[in-house]
Amino acid sequence: MLSKASVTSVKEEGGKVVVTAKNTLLGQSIELAVDMVVLPTALVPTTAHDPTINLVYRQGPAFPDLELFDGFADSNYICFPYETRRTGVYAAGCVRQPMGLGLCREDAAGAVLKAVQCITSANHGVAVHPRSGDLSYPVFNFTRCTQCKRCTEECPFGALDDDEKGTPKPNPTRCRRCGTCMGACPERVISFDNYNIDQIGSAIKEVRVPDKIDEGGPRIIVLACENDAYPALDMAAMRGRSWNPFVRFLPVRCLGSVNAIWVADAMSKGVDGVMLLGCKYGDDYQCHFMKGSELCSRRKENIAESLGRLGVEPERVEQYEVAIDDYDKVADLIEDFVENITKNFGPNPFKGY
Ligand code: SF4
Ligand code: SF4
Repeated sequence: MLSKASVTSVKEEGGKVVVTAKNTLLGQSIELAVDMVVLPTALVPTTAHDPTINLVYRQGPAFPDLELFDGFADSNYICFPYETRRTGVYAAGCVRQPMGLGLCREDAAGAVLKAVQCITSANHGVAVHPRSGDLSYPVFNFTRCTQCKRCTEECPFGALDDDEKGTPKPNPTRCRRCGTCMGACPERVISFDNYNIDQIGSAIKEVRVPDKIDEGGPRIIVLACENDAYPALDMAAMRGRSWNPFVRFLPVRCLGSVNAIWVADAMSKGVDGVMLLGCKYGDDYQCHFMKGSELCSRRKENIAESLGRLGVEPERVEQYEVAIDDYDKVADLIEDFVENITKNFGPNPFKGY
């Protein structure tokens, strides 16, 4: 008997081995008494923790571990297969995931095409995916750097080394322009020519916030990841979904680039709530920059503490995980947030100051 099925159990019954499985083509369950069960050889990647790879990175010579796939090398398994967490290094075949010879051959062609794109972009001095064509690099104002090492530790791509004192040493060719370093810097000394603290801060300051909440309802600012959340909002709008007209949207490169000062700016001018919309994080993350939304959720805890000290309810700032196909959910998410602020918290105590 030859069948394609997912095995659900293997047990011993009356001296026989009994395999139960769910047939993946026809759907019914199969129960089979067999003489022997043969397991295929397990595949273990050699990329993770393998110092013989010998890369010269602050975080060590091997590829960073990708827990979900037990060390296989992709940096985003949905959007950027082939792309490892080391810019310019592409993986194919069983280095990426277990596969047979035929698939390996196709996979190698995919990885080579990605590498060609990378070389072309490098020749033009622009970023490869996901910010293809971006000409900007992070610029550091070293005179105000306190050498706290947050940027070097949090850069998802190992683009920042540091010297013995802790001053960042950028490796521009590794940089993917995510802005995570900018979000991390407590001194706000990192900026891009086309994306910086002042730019988003100024946009927040320009949002009109009346002194009283009864002038149209609460004012909400949404900082939305340009990769997933913002396109999901676009698609929701194109499908005719609507939400409170006093919600203002600001796209950000990644939630990892959100600096706490933006939230402080919004709160101090009387904005009633801030929504942070970014990718899913955790083991099966979908963040295009690896861990931006996860870092943002950690920073949010500090933001909550600071708000608490100022007498502002921390619940006024919430982070949500939004995938690109969540366009049918984002409108309700926003409406629920607005309703929660209206019913449970009312006006921001800083309104009118
Ligand atoms: S922009 Fe992103 S990849 Fe580039 S140095 Fe900053 S954190 Fe690293
Ligand atoms: S996070 Fe800012 S202050 Fe800290 S080391 Fe980096 S550039 Fe310097």
